[in-house]
Amino acid sequence: MVSQKKQPKSSFGGFLTAVSVLGIPLLILWLLTPVQCRYKHFSTKTQREMSETRARNYIRTFDDEPEDWFFKSSSNPTLAESNAIDAQFSETESMLRKYAELSPLTKRISAYFTKLQVGFFSSRGITIRDKEAKPGVPNTALICFVSHEDRNNKRFISSRVWFPEWSAVMVYGKRWPPAAWAGVVFHELGHGLYDMADKAASSRTTHASKEWCREEVDMHEVQYLVQNAATIGVFRKEIQNILTKIPESSSALAATCYLTGEDYRRLDAILGVTGGRSVRESTVADNIRAIGFAQIERKGFPRDREIELKIEFYRNLID
Ligand SMILES: [Zn+2]
Repeated sequence: MVSQKKQPKSSFGGFLTAVSVLGIPLLILWLLTPVQCRYKHFSTKTQREMSETRARNYIRTFDDEPEDWFFKSSSNPTLAESNAIDAQFSETESMLRKYAELSPLTKRISAYFTKLQVGFFSSRGITIRDKEAKPGVPNTALICFVSHEDRNNKRFISSRVWFPEWSAVMVYGKRWPPAAWAGVVFHELGHGLYDMADKAASSRTTHASKEWCREEVDMHEVQYLVQNAATIGVFRKEIQNILTKIPESSSALAATCYLTGEDYRRLDAILGVTGGRSVRESTVADNIRAIGFAQIERKGFPRDREIELKIEFYRNLID
């Protein structure tokens, strides 16, 4: 009879057993530990999808309220709509002066645009409120409201866009709260400055090219500065608060995967956003950029490197 000898387990086998017993709980623990950079091994595409999914899930919790829009149909605005357009526009020129001293770029934007006009877009094209005025006059920009009916017009690729042909900020006629509005106005007029005053190559280059993204970085930085000033520093404080749960080693894109609906809700509340989806769609996209930029800034790189990383982050979001 052959006795079967009990084989001693090799140390490697013991290691494997230990891994299988301890591995899963350790993995769960790791996933639950906030200091881990748990998204860094995912591809750029996966990170972007995760970030977008979270943002979309947040926006979906709000209704698409038609009353968020004060300008509804593509025909000439009614008296009530005209009054609402005037109300949204009324503080814009004073905002340009109020936030002029925040940075060299805010100073240039404020100094260049000595006159703003108000108008609206309809099926017949643009109408400037001042009948004597013409588009494309130096130092003058048109703030032109787009109706709910025209929101899907392919010419307006976003809820607000600088439109060189008409020297106009084409902006959805929806209720922008003051802090978000100030940020949007400086952002778009910054594009206007580069286009009208500087004739910058970045204004005339192809969408998503490096030069194009470089200009966007400038404008998002300005927007962030203005929003922060308009909220008396509370916006930056909340961004810094959110960063405490994100590992410093995370890339900017990975950092945006940590944003929760609650984070988005607090940032929107600070900006004064109320109502449904329509304004939140814009603020969420901007808040994603604000978090990514702040994540890059906390690493303390020299400015050139910081800008390179911001361009890369911006391209990763839109490519
Ligand atoms: Zn822009």
